[in-house]
Amino acid sequence: MKKVDLSKFKIQTRSRLNNNKESNETEINVSNKIKSKYKKKPLNTDTELGKELVAADNNLENAVKIKLEPKVENSQNIKENIDNKLKISKLKREHIEIKYEEPTTSKIKQGDGKPYNWELILKNLREMRKNADAPVDKMGCDKCSDEEASPKVIRYQCLLSLMLSSQTRDEVTHAAMMRLRQHGCMVDHILETDDDVLGKLIYPVGFWKSKVKFIKKTTEILKNEYKGDIPNTVKDLCKLPGVGPKMAHLCMKSAWGKVTGIGVDTHVHRISNRLGWVDTKTPEETRKSLEDWLPLELWSEVNHLLVGFGQQICQPLRPQCPTCLNHEICPYGIKYINNELPVKPKKIKGK
Ligand code: SF4
Repeated sequence: MKKVDLSKFKIQTRSRLNNNKESNETEINVSNKIKSKYKKKPLNTDTELGKELVAADNNLENAVKIKLEPKVENSQNIKENIDNKLKISKLKREHIEIKYEEPTTSKIKQGDGKPYNWELILKNLREMRKNADAPVDKMGCDKCSDEEASPKVIRYQCLLSLMLSSQTRDEVTHAAMMRLRQHGCMVDHILETDDDVLGKLIYPVGFWKSKVKFIKKTTEILKNEYKGDIPNTVKDLCKLPGVGPKMAHLCMKSAWGKVTGIGVDTHVHRISNRLGWVDTKTPEETRKSLEDWLPLELWSEVNHLLVGFGQQICQPLRPQCPTCLNHEICPYGIKYINNELPVKPKKIKGK
């Protein structure tokens, strides 16, 4: 391989550098010479050349000034700049809370098909009902039987109190049951009782005349088909005159201690719809709809909770929404408080 003589290139490069350096020095020297020449001889600004040289000199001086002199800002500008920087740094430091849009009412269904916030609503209901001082707590159907009687008689009285309770306040039902008990509330004795007397004993429960007939027929069936006891299935209970699904499920719970379904009365139906837990027209639809998603272990509790809640707070006409713990998540409560519910026109007599 041919060896390259690098020393030659080095010499050439060095001479080029020297030339450049010399040329730079030459330029500086020439410019200095010109300057000194003009310094010695003041420029004749009358001539074209003189004018051009003065102009060029001024341009050069301005350019150097712009480049070298720091930009002079007045105090106002400086203050504004500082203020702006402070504002930006403040904005950067401020905590910005990111809020995600969340469903606000229980009418919306969760991923599992249950109403949004239903557990919180239930917790609030328990809190509002913790004193257990509603009429249903003291005078409900499960408080009407003679606890010292035989189990068969207790079950019969339990069924009768449920039959009397339909369309009737707990206080009225309880009072009627106390009169019946005093009279002798047993299958044989009721069958022997005249309808008029029975009517007077149960009056003023709702539909008392019809209830006298239902009680008599039902008692007859119990004597003939069930040896004076009551049926132990919902299906057979519902075959008795004047006994519907609500009564049958409640009776199964209080008479037989079995939870077979949710007892939906007017309170449970109304409140479940207000809360958005169901969207139904009849208590029976409400029962089926509630049973679709409410855990079985809560079926018995929910009836008692909602009945007492309906008696004390969520009344049919004037619910006490502002004081209800659920008023921020209850769709009806939100509308009620904001006066957004449609006003029903008052019925005028004769029209
Ligand atoms: S907010 Fe009003 S309507 Fe809703 S559950 Fe409470 S009392 Fe009833």
